[in-house]
Amino acid sequence: MKSIYMELLPNLFYILTTLLVFQFFLVKKQMLNYDEKPFKILIFLFAFISIFLCITFPVKITDNYFYDLREIPFIIGGLYGGPVVAISLLFLTIGYRLLFGGLGIGITIITLSFLGIFSAILSKRFMEMRIRNKLFTACSLVVLYSVILLISCQYIYELPNTWTFVFIPILLAELIAMGVIVYLVEAICNTNYLRNRIAYSEKLEIVSHLAASISHEVRNPLTTTNGFLQLLKEQETDLKKTQYINLALDELSRAEGIVRDYLTYAKPAPEKLELLDLEEQIDKTVAIIQPLANMNSVEIELALFQAAVKGEEAQLQQCLLNIAKNAIESMPSGGKLSIKMKRHNTHALLTISDKGCGMTKEQIARLGEPYFTTKDQKGTGLGMMVVFRVVEAMKGKIKVDSEVGKGTIFTIEFPLV
Ligand code: ADP
Ligand code: MG
Repeated sequence: MKSIYMELLPNLFYILTTLLVFQFFLVKKQMLNYDEKPFKILIFLFAFISIFLCITFPVKITDNYFYDLREIPFIIGGLYGGPVVAISLLFLTIGYRLLFGGLGIGITIITLSFLGIFSAILSKRFMEMRIRNKLFTACSLVVLYSVILLISCQYIYELPNTWTFVFIPILLAELIAMGVIVYLVEAICNTNYLRNRIAYSEKLEIVSHLAASISHEVRNPLTTTNGFLQLLKEQETDLKKTQYINLALDELSRAEGIVRDYLTYAKPAPEKLELLDLEEQIDKTVAIIQPLANMNSVEIELALFQAAVKGEEAQLQQCLLNIAKNAIESMPSGGKLSIKMKRHNTHALLTISDKGCGMTKEQIARLGEPYFTTKDQKGTGLGMMVVFRVVEAMKGKIKVDSEVGKGTIFTIEFPLV
């Protein structure tokens, strides 16, 4: 029995080595979400290369029966990668196994089809599980595999009974190997996630500090200048000079507005929560955004009703403004921006949708990350960050649906008061 464990070791070694390479590439991609394509591609490559190596260098059990650990990377690929990865692995593995010929082909097709279907179905739930349940699920699939393997070998191919006595020890070895691999994949993903998360919060912190210093360093001089200009204006009788002072005051208030726009994120939570009427707030926002919409020949469509929510007026308006501004900017050659409300039990559902350029999955995932922009010099990449903060502070929820070339829908759920 001991020798079987020893002989299976090289197989485990192939899987572990491939996993090491997988980690190397995963670290390079700064992912905060393991639902993304790059992660799936990496997990697919890891699984396929391991399977390839395991099938190429199997363990000989009897003269015509070979054995390997291919099901382990196969299960991992399906569970972590989802249906597309599972099916690709299934076809590629069967295709590769065909090259070797022998009785095992039928068994491979049966067992792997079962595993592929099960892991694809379980994948979505699997990704949300805690590690203990993940271990349990992956190991259950190993048991399933072994049982199907045993049955098909016994009844379909009528292989000599000699190998059944190795069934339990092999199963044990597989379970241990599976446990180790799942544990390692989890450790790799978690460490990587934490690293990226820390980098992300550091960026956020820098922005907050920056904003806070702008608030003090720039706002105060603006206010003082404003005050003195008002004084001058009162004493001035010359029409021409009054005109200049008015112009200067206008520009000052514009500058103040810009500073205010980017200040919200300096504060972690609204300072004074007040009762606000969502309809009124949206109307105010629309009034502000209308000139920009006209300039881009964007038509604004509204369907609103009164709804009381709790928040801070300036923040809520800025949040709505940022979303609406992005929507208009996504339709440079005109279009329709629709802002609609719906009642949903104890919540008000606000949808803001455009028929603009839309976003890729990667872009959606990065939405709200400080400085993330696709607008080069024109964008600040701060707008969505403010949006997420404000919605969170108001205990709301925000959802983004977007398709490249079709448009974007933001759905925000505010608790009604
Ligand atoms: P900025 O507008 O300064 O680029 P934001 O944080 O407001 O920064 O938005 C970040 C990015 O998200 C934008 O550059 C854009 O690529 C994308 N985005 C946001 N809203 C939309 C939308 N409605 N349609 C298409 N892309 C959008
Ligand atoms: Mg913006």
